[in-house]
Amino acid sequence: MAAGSVVFSGMRPTGRLHLGNYWGALKNWVDLSRDHACYFCVVDWHMLTTGYEETSGLQVNIREMVLDWLAAGLDPARCVIFRQSSVAEHAELALLLSMTTPLSWLENNPTWKEQLQELAKTKHGILTEPKKGKGPLEGLSEPSVQYGKVAAEVLSEQERKAYIDRSLRTSGFLFYPVLQAADILLYGGTLVPVGQDQLPHIELAREIARRFNSIYGQVFPEPKPLLTPAPRVQGVDGRKMSKSYGNGIELAEPPESLKTKVMGAYTDPKKIRAADPGHPEPCPENPPGCSIFALHKLYNTTWEKRRVECMEGRIGCVACKRDLLAHLDGPFREFREKRESIERAAGEVDRILDDGAKRARAVAAETMKRVRRAMRLA
Ligand code: SF4
Repeated sequence: MAAGSVVFSGMRPTGRLHLGNYWGALKNWVDLSRDHACYFCVVDWHMLTTGYEETSGLQVNIREMVLDWLAAGLDPARCVIFRQSSVAEHAELALLLSMTTPLSWLENNPTWKEQLQELAKTKHGILTEPKKGKGPLEGLSEPSVQYGKVAAEVLSEQERKAYIDRSLRTSGFLFYPVLQAADILLYGGTLVPVGQDQLPHIELAREIARRFNSIYGQVFPEPKPLLTPAPRVQGVDGRKMSKSYGNGIELAEPPESLKTKVMGAYTDPKKIRAADPGHPEPCPENPPGCSIFALHKLYNTTWEKRRVECMEGRIGCVACKRDLLAHLDGPFREFREKRESIERAAGEVDRILDDGAKRARAVAAETMKRVRRAMRLA
């Protein structure tokens, strides 16, 4: 990795984080912050690009997420931790970059198209109740149209499309990669830790930077994606761990619910008795693989032995789950205690975010001076 790299990454404030968030991103942030200049941003404006209807829990979600960041090991003395909306320069730079970003780049962004389809299936395309005696779109206030019966069951394709267009086809949602480019470029971000699915956005950020530089002169370094292999974190139902599936284990999961989740987790449906040979890893006999084994791989240093024991029918699932709980006990207790101690220090999260915003604003202000000068705005 190049010396002097600046790392920028952001997370939408969705509240308490689960193991998938930790192993997929947060752990990498903590590692990177040890020897790089890092900016870690609570991207609350990004949250609005798809979640603009529901903002009542936003402040609580920010606080809960930052508490998890800190308890997981992010140290404000080693990195800048701040919220996007505290640094107005993100909005100014995004606006100026939008002047030079062709609309077609955003409309052809494959991630945007996929996200639109995905959200249409899971959130905005969903109705609470079909209203009797009315057209399906009549009488439904925006917030009431969130959870419940799938729109496809009650709406014609055309009606469904009209609703989705109205609620999701916002300029903010389409504009999201420009805001993301501004987030990165404001700090001269050269490395952006991302997953495979975010690669098109980083490519777009690179193109946005290149186009700006080609018109106004060299102002921005081109950011590069930093793909770090992350272990597969499986939810308790066998699918990928995700808040929207409700299959997660929170980093600060209390002991009782941790036990309930582990003891009820998906294993191998074909392994009924302890002596039955099991299929711990994804395979044709057990396509998702065993969720418990996936966690053993993360928290039990002797997981390879466990794989053999399972496959040879030398351990039953109940004993295997209890053993996993014993391995989880120490790390989870340590995390909860650290989180609680930060929480007890009154105003600590606000203080860290305010201090981070000050440090971020100082850098952002310098970048904006260069941008305004390059564009002859100053
Ligand atoms: S013994 Fe363990 S690894 Fe094997 S299927 Fe049961 S819970 Fe999974």
